[in-house]
Amino acid sequence: MPFSSQLNAVAICRTPYKQKFGIPRQPGLVNAVGYIEFEPAFNHLDAVRGIEQYSHLWLLFCFHENVAQGWKTTVRPPRLGGNEKLGVFATRSTFRPNGIGQSVVKLHGVVQRKGKVCLVISGMDLLDGTPIVDIKPYIPFSDAILDAKGGIAQDAPELMPLIYTPLATEQINHYCQQEQYQDLAELITGVLAQDPRPAYKKAKDDAKLYQVALYDLDIFWHVTAQGIEVLELKATTV
Ligand code: SAM
Repeated sequence: MPFSSQLNAVAICRTPYKQKFGIPRQPGLVNAVGYIEFEPAFNHLDAVRGIEQYSHLWLLFCFHENVAQGWKTTVRPPRLGGNEKLGVFATRSTFRPNGIGQSVVKLHGVVQRKGKVCLVISGMDLLDGTPIVDIKPYIPFSDAILDAKGGIAQDAPELMPLIYTPLATEQINHYCQQEQYQDLAELITGVLAQDPRPAYKKAKDDAKLYQVALYDLDIFWHVTAQGIEVLELKATTV
């Protein structure tokens, strides 16, 4: 059936995740705090009146960094080690016909920031700058299906143990004293314990030096026999 729709962002999501690599693969896995900043046409407290009576929200958003690359009928989910293909509609792939993602996040409140109405949220799996196309309350009696089958993703991913070099420990302690980085220690632990590496890397000896970007910091790490070792932090240069 012919159908045409121009989706506009109602808000932009601000998160500590500055690159796709390292972002949790689903919401609720890492307790990072983010902000939903309403666009000018939706920047009214009236538009969110009553929202604080809900503890969680559905965010509908655009995978804006991937839409230009289009989509394919089948994808190789990371959960299956990248070896097996599933239909795009049988996965949460970011390469989708309309580039739409959806995530349940925790709502902490409504605030005004730099003249903008903002929702304070946590647990999102979104890149900083992600356009939000709609927001709806999460309704447990209908949305929570306790005996639902989770297919290839029945359980949350296993966590990796974390080790910190003395330099990384000192740097994290230093940054955490500043207000804008107060959750940095928890954030680094939460993100790296998910082991952001692609599945094919996990399957073999891996001597690579990795980096994830959180806030305006690059976190360098590698994998040892004991787990993931955080090596050092550097201010992002670009
Ligand atoms: N929960 C959502 C869903 O099921 O639609 C997203 C799942 S998707 C597998 C999560 C991944 O999307 C993240 O780990 C990150 O790599 C990627 N991602 C997040 N925001 C994005 C954006 N704006 N553009 C492209 N990729 C993004």
